[in-house]
Amino acid sequence: MCGIVGYAGGDSAAKIIYDGLLKLEYRGYDSAGIAVMEQGKITVAKRVGRVQKLAPSVQILEGNIGIGHTRWATHGKPSDENAHPHTSGKITVVHNGIIENYAELKSELSAEGRIFLSETDSEVIAALIDKFYDGDLLKAVIDCARMLKGSYALLAMCEGEERIVAAKYRSPVILGLGGNGNFVVSDEPALAGNCPELCVLEDGDFAVITPLSVAVYDSMKNPVIRAVYPVAAKEQSIVLRGYPHYMIKELWESPSAVSRTLSEFAKVQYGVEKLLKDAKKIILTGCGTAYHAALVGKRYFCEICKKSAEAEYAGELRYDMPVIGCGTVLVAVTQSGETADTVEAARLYKSLNAKVIAVTNCPHSAITRISDAVVPVAAGPEICVAATKSYSAQIAALLSMALAVGRSPECEVLKRELLSAPSTILKTLEEIDIYALAEMCARSRGVYFMGRGIDYALALEASLKLKEVSYIAGSGYPASELKHGALALIDGGTLSVFLINDEALASKSANAVEQTISRGGMVSVITSLREVGEQFSGRAEVITLPSSNRYLSPFAAAAAVQFLAYRTAVTLGRNPDKPRNLAKSVTVE
Ligand code: GLU
Repeated sequence: MCGIVGYAGGDSAAKIIYDGLLKLEYRGYDSAGIAVMEQGKITVAKRVGRVQKLAPSVQILEGNIGIGHTRWATHGKPSDENAHPHTSGKITVVHNGIIENYAELKSELSAEGRIFLSETDSEVIAALIDKFYDGDLLKAVIDCARMLKGSYALLAMCEGEERIVAAKYRSPVILGLGGNGNFVVSDEPALAGNCPELCVLEDGDFAVITPLSVAVYDSMKNPVIRAVYPVAAKEQSIVLRGYPHYMIKELWESPSAVSRTLSEFAKVQYGVEKLLKDAKKIILTGCGTAYHAALVGKRYFCEICKKSAEAEYAGELRYDMPVIGCGTVLVAVTQSGETADTVEAARLYKSLNAKVIAVTNCPHSAITRISDAVVPVAAGPEICVAATKSYSAQIAALLSMALAVGRSPECEVLKRELLSAPSTILKTLEEIDIYALAEMCARSRGVYFMGRGIDYALALEASLKLKEVSYIAGSGYPASELKHGALALIDGGTLSVFLINDEALASKSANAVEQTISRGGMVSVITSLREVGEQFSGRAEVITLPSSNRYLSPFAAAAAVQFLAYRTAVTLGRNPDKPRNLAKSVTVE
């Protein structure tokens, strides 16, 4: 969360930083700000709201060194005063993360006579650096970092010093090299089209960025060498190309995301297979959509590999006191690879001698550096806050993993059928008629998604997607639970959407549909089973999906429910790409 961009080079810093912040806006859009240095003097422009609000300032901010920020507020409401950059004395900073001991630092600094203008935790960083500054900005940032508890990706500038100093702990910092100047950013898309190479800072690193040089240090000011990689994000892949929103563009990119993920798996199969084959217990974890993918993965590992498998929210798992026997493998699913809870859960399991397999869309992310193996989710940059293609690609990765270990004759058939997942998604998107159901959702007071088995995992994701982008309340339930409580919510103003794609459980789910119709609720059935569609035709809004094996049914079902959420948001006039209060890449706790 929060996007940060720093630049030192030959071009207008404000213009470059502004463009970079636009590319990182998915990380937060509560406020934005830029600070630029010219002849040693720093000027700041910051505004509550979206990055575009800074456009008029960009024309007048002159200078070739600067830092910028797009905020997802953690401490202090979105406002002009709380927007970053924050200045104290000669020092100006931007910060991504949370300073957990900010209150005590703030009262100590206030007692020393320092004045604070914002409610943020971040402002104490500027005050501390200014307090420690005695002519060496790097030293002052290192001294400040020693005092901080929590997480930070921070950039600091000091009046009179023509440089940016960066510090990193538990929030991502990437250096961009080899363009017309040097960059320091939160995430790779901000480098697309700007420079050919990048270098990823590790926790505890500091960096000094000038127009002509970039140097990395440890906390004793010893130089540190970090590997250099090519920048993979392409300018072309992060523009809308005629689509009205990133959500629908990325949904249509799902087939290629799945197909790339399947081919990439071949490169890592051997190592992953070895880890999973020896596993006595597999624990899958993630947050939000990634957790819902983990729930599907759990079914795959249990049923296809015949392994004991569980799925748990990473935010819960990291504070469990697990008893880990030998042979435990943690499968950590995270789109960004930086999700704080997932990374910390992985660190915990690693410290207890479990093996960790990361399933991630970001090859240089934090999770990859603490994992024994990395399964690439090759979805490409996902700009919409609500995940679409990355979810389908995560399912493809998890199914590939299970099939690499499964030994039943059915696995060979499934492996062949998995190759047709991209065309199933495409067919679903081309043929589905979701408009009437989207209208029903838009009119409903609440929408409940239900299913059993793998369909239950899909129901949870469908509900999350709809909530995220349309703000309509609801939940996902196992269809079996309906009569244990949820049925009390059913009336003419609520909509129940049943996902029924598992033949073995279809008649059980059909009972729940009948019970809901009897109670006068609006009902829809999303199914790949012809007989189920026929059973409810005329009595419920039936959405027919291409038929497929139940293990492959998530591909069509995901496309359908993602499309439904998109259409509902658009019907209600919401911006599906930037849901209120949310941001992508949840790097804070
Ligand atoms: N804690 C800081 C603030 O609320 C930064 C938030 C973030 O990293 O998203 O301003």
